[in-house]
Amino acid sequence: MKQFDVVIAGGAMAGMTLALALDSLSQGRLSIAVVEPFVVDHQAHPGFDSRSIALSYGTVQILKQLNLWGDIAPVATAIKHIHVSDRSHAGMTEIDHQDLNVSALGYVVELADVGRLYQQKVTQSKQIELLSPEAVTQVKRTASHCLVTLKSGEQVQCKLLVAADGAISSCCQQLGIELREHDFEQVAVIANIRTEQPHQGRAFERFTEQGPVALLPMSDNRMSLVWCLRPERAQQVLQLDEQAFLAQLQHDFGWRLGRLTQVGARASYPLLLRYREQNTSHRFAIVGNAAQTLHPIAGQGFNLGIRDVASLAEEMMNSLDDVGAYSVLSAFRQRREADRIGTITLTSSLVHLFSNDYLSLRIGRNLGLALMDNLAPLKAPLLQRTLGLVAR
Ligand SMILES: Cc1cc2nc3c(=O)[nH]c(=O)nc-3n(C[C@H](O)[C@H](O)[C@H](O)COP(=O)(O)OP(=O)(O)OC[C@H]3O[C@@H](n4cnc5c(N)ncnc54)[C@H](O)[C@@H]3O)c2cc1C
Repeated sequence: MKQFDVVIAGGAMAGMTLALALDSLSQGRLSIAVVEPFVVDHQAHPGFDSRSIALSYGTVQILKQLNLWGDIAPVATAIKHIHVSDRSHAGMTEIDHQDLNVSALGYVVELADVGRLYQQKVTQSKQIELLSPEAVTQVKRTASHCLVTLKSGEQVQCKLLVAADGAISSCCQQLGIELREHDFEQVAVIANIRTEQPHQGRAFERFTEQGPVALLPMSDNRMSLVWCLRPERAQQVLQLDEQAFLAQLQHDFGWRLGRLTQVGARASYPLLLRYREQNTSHRFAIVGNAAQTLHPIAGQGFNLGIRDVASLAEEMMNSLDDVGAYSVLSAFRQRREADRIGTITLTSSLVHLFSNDYLSLRIGRNLGLALMDNLAPLKAPLLQRTLGLVAR
């Protein structure tokens, strides 16, 4: 039977980042396996699909510490300016990179690009074994080890099993770790868009009574759309032809980028908060979407997940002989508590505050946005989290 220090279930953003982080921080002293059912570059990979995501300033700092940013930077587009507004109302706020003395507020990457880069780096590493296509089907634990059974029937042994296997997490299900869910009753419609005016590094988020619509700057002057809508309307816009789709989007988004001229392939994601209060168990840790899956309203999902990954990797470095020791898991759990609760609460409150049309809330949020624009200290807490500058 193969033996590893750590087995990571799930080879998407969280799992692959963790494997590469551990390899880099331990300078090759840990044996690592990543188990993933889907092969990169096959259209079906659910973790490296057609989505683009915004990496916050703080995430980029972590990726630099882990020696990963150098590879990602060439395929990333800088966000220089963020513009937040409320449809048909006056409230709005703006943040510019110069106000904060940083070269960029964050960067947009296409997950498919990151998947290819990560795959290359993992393949080059002597210490990481990618078991793919393969899946974790059963987990058994003794005092000193985890025994992991894979779909092929093969068994592997490790000192620590990390669940990075997404919102449903069959590893967590196996171990009976409770999942809490809240349905936001919204669906995110995503697509790449072309606009009449160049984006010049500007990102836009606009609140409508259906949900937020965001346009993020991408390479080649494209923009990445995340359009959150009630499920019935999402179904309807997904079926529209290109011109009708663009007309409805223009109506919701407005004219800040001139005419919206082209839309690429569309995809959709039902939006639920999924959250596991417990993020550790005996010889077991949970990171990324498996620990918490958020609404994309503030682009916090992976930006929170990478803080799980970095804190776990750092704690494991304190116990290289036994990376699954109780001391490692206990320190990891404590380090992650405040940030997880804070980010989940902030994200969910934003969804409820901004996704409806009650007059009182509308006035409140417009005042809020206007105040935020005038009073720098009010911007600060939201901004700190948006920038990913959070203690972990
Ligand atoms: C529309 C949208 C926009 C978003 N925008 C942003 C953004 O701007 N910024 C941001 O930070 N985040 C954003 N996010 C969130 C971000 O995409 C996710 O947080 C991140 O990609 C999650 O990565 P993950 O590796 O934790 O989980 P997943 O991507 O869910 O990966 C889980 C992996 O586990 C594998 N797996 C499943 N079962 C098993 C098993 N039994 N054994 C082994 N492997 C298994 C799966 O095949 C998959 O590859 C957005 C999300 C959406 C939906």
